[in-house]
Amino acid sequence: MSILHYILIIIVILLILLLLSCYKKIAYISKVLDVILQGNINARIRLQSQIRPINLLITKINSLSAKLQEVEEKNKRSEESRKKMISNISHDLRTPLTSMLGYLEIIFEDESLSKSERESYEKIVYNKGNYLLNLMEEFFQVSKLDSMDIKLEIKKVNVSEHIRENIVSFFAEFKKHNIEPEIILPEDDVYAFGDEKALNRILNNLINNALKYGAKASIIGVGLREEADKVFIEVWDNGSGIPTEDVSYIFDRLYTVEKSRNLNSKSSGLGLTIVKKLVWALGGTISAESIPNERTTFTFTLPKNDNSRG
Ligand code: ADP
Repeated sequence: MSILHYILIIIVILLILLLLSCYKKIAYISKVLDVILQGNINARIRLQSQIRPINLLITKINSLSAKLQEVEEKNKRSEESRKKMISNISHDLRTPLTSMLGYLEIIFEDESLSKSERESYEKIVYNKGNYLLNLMEEFFQVSKLDSMDIKLEIKKVNVSEHIRENIVSFFAEFKKHNIEPEIILPEDDVYAFGDEKALNRILNNLINNALKYGAKASIIGVGLREEADKVFIEVWDNGSGIPTEDVSYIFDRLYTVEKSRNLNSKSSGLGLTIVKKLVWALGGTISAESIPNERTTFTFTLPKNDNSRG
């Protein structure tokens, strides 16, 4: 046999080995795909090949199953939140609805009712209807936030500017209640990563709460300070505050401090829950501290947008 024959035999052997290795790899890929098809979407192809198209195929199959896993998790979250929402709604709607029906029954059936009694019952039914409408709207918001079905447009936001605008929008209310607004902002505007609508909703809710619940407050303030990678925003008032035993619960769903219950027929106890979920969705944290009649402060953070001044 000539040298050429030897070379040809070696090439044929190498080709057979290559084909065998390809066969094994494709068989392994098919096995993993079977596992994924059986529902184990965590499975991944852990293989490297010298053949570029096989490597590309592996990467694409892996990213496809990662996407599938993401969709599956999102569906699971929405399903859980849907179930939770349905059970919450039925629980929380029952009481006001039962009471509305009770009043309506009296209005329709009690012929001895005086005109003023009838009017006052009608007003109660109207207020309860309003409360329910607001509750439904806020439930919807909470469920959207829980299932992360909310589109946030995270971009550079001028936090100083948003604080000034929010304070200005409350000026008439401040004047009506003889409240002195206090704004403490650094000289230069401060920027953060955030969503403008969400930031406005958070500020509006906290300032509104200071007005609504900060009974006898004479000062409502908003402050801003920054640290290395965070921006801190504080909203405070010197009103009647929150009892120490309630502070850790006020961000919980439907939690209202006993004395503020029924203060406002529209209060659902979901405002701070929505605020907390929005702050978290923006990558921040929120806390509250209260020394009644001295200072009740809500502090939330946002990730700082450092190189974007000016
Ligand atoms: P709602 O949506 O009904 O307004 P929130 O979730 O916003 O309720 O607030 C929950 C509870 O926290 C309120 O019932 C109130 O008792 C208390 N609270 C919130 N902010 C303040 C504040 N600035 N001063 C005193 N109490 C407050």
